[in-house]
Amino acid sequence: MFAMPQKLLVTLFILLFTSFATASTMKSVSVPSHTAPKQPILIQGPMPIEAEYFAGLLSNVKIESTGNFTFYIGDLNGYPIVVTQTSKGVENTAAATAVAIERYNPRAIINQGTSGGHDKSLNVGDIVLGKRSVNVGNLKTPITAEGQGSDPFNWIPMDVMASSGSAGESSDAEKIRYYEGSPELLAAAHAVKDSYKRGKVVEGTIGSANFWNNEIDRMNWLHKNFGTSVEEMETASAALIAEAYQVPFLGIRVLSNNLTNGGKYDPTTAKDNQEFVKNVVVQYISTLQ
Ligand code: SAH
Repeated sequence: MFAMPQKLLVTLFILLFTSFATASTMKSVSVPSHTAPKQPILIQGPMPIEAEYFAGLLSNVKIESTGNFTFYIGDLNGYPIVVTQTSKGVENTAAATAVAIERYNPRAIINQGTSGGHDKSLNVGDIVLGKRSVNVGNLKTPITAEGQGSDPFNWIPMDVMASSGSAGESSDAEKIRYYEGSPELLAAAHAVKDSYKRGKVVEGTIGSANFWNNEIDRMNWLHKNFGTSVEEMETASAALIAEAYQVPFLGIRVLSNNLTNGGKYDPTTAKDNQEFVKNVVVQYISTLQ
C-alpha cells in the first residue's frame, strides 16, 4: 500500500527535475532574434557569361539545379546571396523568379545582363538602371481583312494584367504597363555610379520580349512609343513576378550592342556589368544593417 505512492512520488520528482533541467538548457541555447537568418539578395543573369562571374564572387557556394535554372547559393562579405542563371527569354525568367521567391524568400531581386541600345546617345558599355521596365511584345493588332497585310507600326500596346477578361475584346487593356524599379535599389546604384569606369550609368526604360530587333525603324518606333532605352529578353518578366510577390526589384542592363549608332556586339560587357552590380549589392546590404 505504502510502496506505490512512494514510487510515484520519486517518478514525479524525476519528471519535474528533468523538465526544469530541459527548460533551463533550452533557455541558455535559445537564439536571440538579431541572429535570425537574413533574407538573401537574388541576382539573375540569363546566359553563363551573365551569371558565372557573379557566382564566382561568392563564398561557401552550394549549387542547386532545377528546370532550366541553376542557383548558386552562397554569401558575399558574409551576406547571403543567390545567383540564378535563368536561361534566356521571358518564360524562363518568370519561372526562375517564382521558383526562387518560393524557395529562398529573397529580400530583393536584381535582374542584370546585356542589352541592345534604342537610344542613340548610349554607347556599348554604358549601363541602364531600369527606372521602369516594360514587355514590348505585349501587342494587339488592329482588325484588317484577309489580303490587307500586316503593319507592325499600327500595333497597339496591350496590358495582360489589366483585367481577368479578354484582352482582345476589352479596350481597357489597350495600354502600356510599366514596372517601376525599387527606389532603394536605384539609390544604391546611384551611390556607387562613379565606381564604373567603362561608360556612363543612366536611368532608363528596359524593354523586354523574345525578339531580337535588327530593324532600326522598329527600334525607333519602340523608343518613341514605349520610351525604351534598351531592348533585351528578360527584365520585364521578372519585374511582373517580383511585383506580384511584392519583392523590391531592379533591372541593370549594360549595352552589349547598339545598332542605332553603329555599336558592335561586345560580350565582354557582361562581366563589367556584374562587377558593377556587385558594388550595388554591397552598397544595398550596407543600408540594411
Ligand atoms: N549574340 C548572342 C545573343 C544572345 S540571345 C548569341 O548569339 O549567343 C539574346 C540574349 O542577349 C538575351 O538574353 C537578351 O536579354 C540579350 N540581348 C542583348 N542584346 C540584345 C538585343 N539587341 N536584342 C535582344 N536581346 C538582346
